[in-house]
Amino acid sequence: MQQVRVRFAPSPTGPLHIGGVRTALYNYLFAKKQKGIFILRIEDTDRSRFVNGAEEYITESLKWCGIKPDEGVLEGGPYGPYRQSERKDLYRQYAEKLVEKGDAYYAFDAPEELELLRYSAEKKGQTFTYNSSVRDKLKNSLSLPEPEWKRFIREDKPYVIRYKMPVNEDVNLDDLIRGHIVVNTDTLDDKVLFKSDGMPTYHLANVVDDYLMKITHIIRGEEWLPSLPLHFLLYRSFAWEKPLFAHLPLLLKPDGKGKLSKRDGDKMGFPVFPLYWPYGETARGYREEGYYPEAFVNMLSLLGWNPGTEKEIFSMDELINVFSLDRVHKAGSRFDPEKARWFNHHYLQQKSNKQLAIEFREILRAKGFHHDIIQLETLVDLVKERVSFVKDIWDETDFFFIAPKAYDSEVITKRWKPETPEHLKGLKEVLDELSDFTPAATEQAVKMWITQNGYHTGTIMNALRLVLVGASRGPHIFNIISWLGKEETLNRIDRGLTVIGNHSR
Ligand code: GLU
Repeated sequence: MQQVRVRFAPSPTGPLHIGGVRTALYNYLFAKKQKGIFILRIEDTDRSRFVNGAEEYITESLKWCGIKPDEGVLEGGPYGPYRQSERKDLYRQYAEKLVEKGDAYYAFDAPEELELLRYSAEKKGQTFTYNSSVRDKLKNSLSLPEPEWKRFIREDKPYVIRYKMPVNEDVNLDDLIRGHIVVNTDTLDDKVLFKSDGMPTYHLANVVDDYLMKITHIIRGEEWLPSLPLHFLLYRSFAWEKPLFAHLPLLLKPDGKGKLSKRDGDKMGFPVFPLYWPYGETARGYREEGYYPEAFVNMLSLLGWNPGTEKEIFSMDELINVFSLDRVHKAGSRFDPEKARWFNHHYLQQKSNKQLAIEFREILRAKGFHHDIIQLETLVDLVKERVSFVKDIWDETDFFFIAPKAYDSEVITKRWKPETPEHLKGLKEVLDELSDFTPAATEQAVKMWITQNGYHTGTIMNALRLVLVGASRGPHIFNIISWLGKEETLNRIDRGLTVIGNHSR
């Protein structure tokens, strides 16, 4: 059987949208499942839309996700170069071949002339389409006498090469996801294949390269579906065997109303790009927001595909095992920012305390706190279930590092009883005598003291939490005491006693 070869073919026009990452992922999963080859090809023939840094952004994003090209701009390979601008000289001959065959023609219309035609059609409520309906009246090698257009070419008059769309023909398209589609050629225009700047357009370069790189399956976003009839016809004109096509569903906004756009992230408070984009109009990235690549990939994998079971957690290897194009949906997939956080929460729980402590230490270091990993491991263990991101550990543990300066007045009103100062003083003495300050030892001593005195556990614990934390939050109180250590615990009790003092209700 022929080896599966797929490609991800982004244009470096800015940061790669998460929809693009999903396209890369599905291509990768499909290829790996079939023991095939995944290619990264950079489609940079449109120099007017080229953005510096975008190609590097694409390669770094794929790397972060664990999507490894077998052939590509960095990897090289037998069908390179993999950057279209470096293949520039190869495309003209293909466009000319089509002219010779009668399936394409030279067009000399100036952009302003076409603009004018477009404008006057619009004024009449029509749309101008450059195809069989008008091409005879325009300036091209089909309408002009041969000596004239040949002279134009000799004189270097700027021209483009356009595809000669057949007249009134039903093109039968097959798509692995969308099924059979019929499009009549009269609804299509004579697309430009080769531009006056000597560069091919997307359509020509894309089809030629897919052929030369022996691509077997083209898996790409639904926005390319309108190009499919032309691509089918190009394969026919070249008499090349067609690859199979699969157009992936759109990613929709969380409310399902329309395509998830680059602007939505900022508007709705979640990133729409894998990594931070540092140039010009900057954009937030999943990596910098604290997402783990495993969570990001897992989340993306389910936006447009389902495994046919209830299972939601998949590693890359598991995805490779179970992925198939038959389970890719036709309908658009709603992006769910909550679910993205849910995935990160899941993957964060799988990390070792040590790993999390190492990551959290960086956040602390930036805030000017220096603690050893062992201490932080204990701390992380206390709160990890509550957090979805390492950066959230700070919100759960800030009081471990900064003693409370103020105390929640609602908690004071509710929890600070007239007898509280006496209780806390007694408690201080109990703790002061302890040499073993582990959670178990402090708990045992305090509970024994409470029982011996016939105190109410809740009342004491609530007041103690208030002076240690400043509010009624945080993990188990004896874990807090133990982590703070004797000196800090006693200091905080003292300070609470002074500041709250004999608060009377
Ligand atoms: N260069 C196109 C893009 O930016 C490739 C589309 C395709 O995969 O054919 O998405």
